Amino acid sequence: MNAKEFQEKLLDWFDQHGRKELPWRQQPAPYRVWVSEIMLQQTRVSTVIPYYQKFTARFPAVETLASAPLDEVLHLWSGLGYYARARNLHEAARIVAGLRAFPSSVDDLCALPGIGKSTAGAILSIAFGQRQPILDGNVRRVLIRFQAVDGWPGDARVERELWQLSEAYTPKKRVADYTQAIMDLGAALCTRSQPGCRRCPVQTGCRAFHGGRVGELPAPRPKKRIPARKSFLLVITDAREQLFYLERRPAGGLWGGLWSFPEYSEKAEVEYTCRLRGIDPLSLRWLPERRHTFTHFHLDYTPVVAPLENPINLVMEGIRSLWYKAGLDERYGLPAPVTRLIAQLSNDKL
Ligand code: SF4
Repeated sequence: MNAKEFQEKLLDWFDQHGRKELPWRQQPAPYRVWVSEIMLQQTRVSTVIPYYQKFTARFPAVETLASAPLDEVLHLWSGLGYYARARNLHEAARIVAGLRAFPSSVDDLCALPGIGKSTAGAILSIAFGQRQPILDGNVRRVLIRFQAVDGWPGDARVERELWQLSEAYTPKKRVADYTQAIMDLGAALCTRSQPGCRRCPVQTGCRAFHGGRVGELPAPRPKKRIPARKSFLLVITDAREQLFYLERRPAGGLWGGLWSFPEYSEKAEVEYTCRLRGIDPLSLRWLPERRHTFTHFHLDYTPVVAPLENPINLVMEGIRSLWYKAGLDERYGLPAPVTRLIAQLSNDKL
């Protein structure tokens, strides 16, 4: 289906099924379209309607909004959420009220607080009849499915492709109706779940529909790969007494203030420290690496056991340290991997 057919089918459908009764469609002046577009961000049409009516009754023009105190604007916004929208709208109204005319280009609109390229496109196409593409959530979903666009829509490459598609499908004529039609299609039929494909005016050309891919598009946000950090935990033990040498970690940072085995990022650092402390590196027992997962990263740590025959010789200057006896020193806070290691090594009889 080419762009022309797409536009015609969509506009025919809009003529029959478009939601022309919506209050912001009655007098599509730039200010009113702007207010509606800001309110509709992340918010359902049915929720917005009463807020829009009250808001525009109290602030019928950009000048009345500009001269109102912010508290009153926020009060009328109460319950709609995302209050930065109201603050930006108010601030932008003050700027616009000081201009000779309502801004009528994408660049001028995008220079105002809270207006992005899609909102600018909606204002310009609906209120000024300019041929400008838009890409709000509904339009994005329609285009992704219609053209079976792969990849997460938040990805810059996919975003670029979608703007190109939106630009290509936007007609020269009836642009205000087309913009509202494609938004309506996304909201009424091409919904996130259970879309009404059977009633869709562009179904014959929809690649996702014919490829059986409607349920999998748009692609979800990819799961973030959690980075991994390697480290070595030096487990110095007094083999006869089953004591473990622990140091208190600095207050800030990982395991801040807890008692832990000394941690090193390099194998060579472990060996160097051991030599300094009179421990023969050849006596070290390197256990298999283990993983402990934090919210933002994995800690892949290798326990390195250093059993001492004569721990009295161990000199640790300037560090808060102690010999920890498993099961007896419950008053100390230990990170979970350290507790687990101590339990395991105690059972192994070191
Ligand atoms: Fe969306 Fe279904 Fe229409 Fe395709 S056929 S555009 S998936 S509603």
